[in-house]
Amino acid sequence: MVIGAGQAGLSAAYHLKKLGLEIGPDFIVLDAASAAGGAWQYRWPSLTLSTVNKIHDLPGMAFDETLDTAGTTVQASIAVPHYFDLYEQKFGIRVFRPVKVENVYLHNDRFYIDSQKTLFSAMGIINATGTWENPYIPAYPGAELFMGEQLHTKDFKTADYFKGKRVVVVGGGISAIQLLDQISKVTATIWVTRRPPVFREGPFDDVAGHKAVAMVEERVRNGLIPSSVVSVTGLPLSPEVVDMKRRGVLNRFPMFSEITRDGVKWEDGREEKADVILWNTGFRGALEHLKAVLPREETGGIIMSGRLATMVAKEPRIHLPGYGPSASTIGANRAGAVAARELMATLNILESHH
Ligand code: FAD
Repeated sequence: MVIGAGQAGLSAAYHLKKLGLEIGPDFIVLDAASAAGGAWQYRWPSLTLSTVNKIHDLPGMAFDETLDTAGTTVQASIAVPHYFDLYEQKFGIRVFRPVKVENVYLHNDRFYIDSQKTLFSAMGIINATGTWENPYIPAYPGAELFMGEQLHTKDFKTADYFKGKRVVVVGGGISAIQLLDQISKVTATIWVTRRPPVFREGPFDDVAGHKAVAMVEERVRNGLIPSSVVSVTGLPLSPEVVDMKRRGVLNRFPMFSEITRDGVKWEDGREEKADVILWNTGFRGALEHLKAVLPREETGGIIMSGRLATMVAKEPRIHLPGYGPSASTIGANRAGAVAARELMATLNILESHH
């Protein structure tokens, strides 16, 4: 059973087929969304292929081949789903959708996968449900008192929504910068980040990327909650950023220490009024439906093992490509391949013991 048909789920399905399995008799792919595209179909309209980092090719088919418009201004929320759709067709990966898995449980050594419509059963699970469904907002004192709106990256559609509102943009990553850029053109903004942001002039630093992946991998192998691998890319010094500097909107404040009825407050007593707090504070694995079958540590994390740390150490019949160190398009690709192979190996070993 493959749950989720984003980059990780499609890569896993491709490799399961390559290992000789047939969709239908041997495995099925479920996805909560009504169309192809994984979480990319939900991205805000102004996120274009020139403003995302990079979409890595799925195995066996190049993304570029599927772009019918030259240039890089194509909306990511259209181009990537189009690519995934053609990919599913080319490799005969039939996805059952929309099927949202609500709960998974074990009975007589089989997994039961419960959606609103159907109850499926399986010997093993490749869970590739990504992070989009689980936005993360850190806790700050007073959050419940705030009379304005608290939104997350996930809620952003267009900057126009914020017109006339005073907006506190929280976060030092690429999403925060992109949304700050757009919102600051239509209304007053205050930017807060935990650490002073670092802008990079050159291309993405591969060495820093590898280091970040290794660090997150180490965390999940020890059962700790993963940190983000895509947040380490640094902030590119793009023409938009140069313009934001010129407009004075990159005047960054440290994190506030408390939220009040009508704004935010810093440790030194300084206060700012706000109508909206926009949290660009990332995502966590969307694993709620697996709570009955995933062994969690006291830290809240899951001990991962296997070649790319995609196998749940205490339940090797469950694999999580796209979780932790593989939560990037390149990582999800590789993780899908490894998860397919390692799950098959686990099930074959279990079978030979019976
Ligand atoms: P997803 O694409 O999230 O797919 C998960 C699928 O699972 C979805 O189709 C969903 O419908 C389905 N699903 C979820 N829950 C259930 C359920 N309970 N039952 C059934 N189906 C379910 N990474 C990069 O490498 N480069 C980038 O440029 C980049 N840009 C990003 C920009 C933004 C704004 C964000 C938020 C993330 C970005 N990322 C980027 C990270 C990106 O999300 C991952 O790299 C990758 O796309 C995740 O793939 P995935 O297959 O793990 O998950």
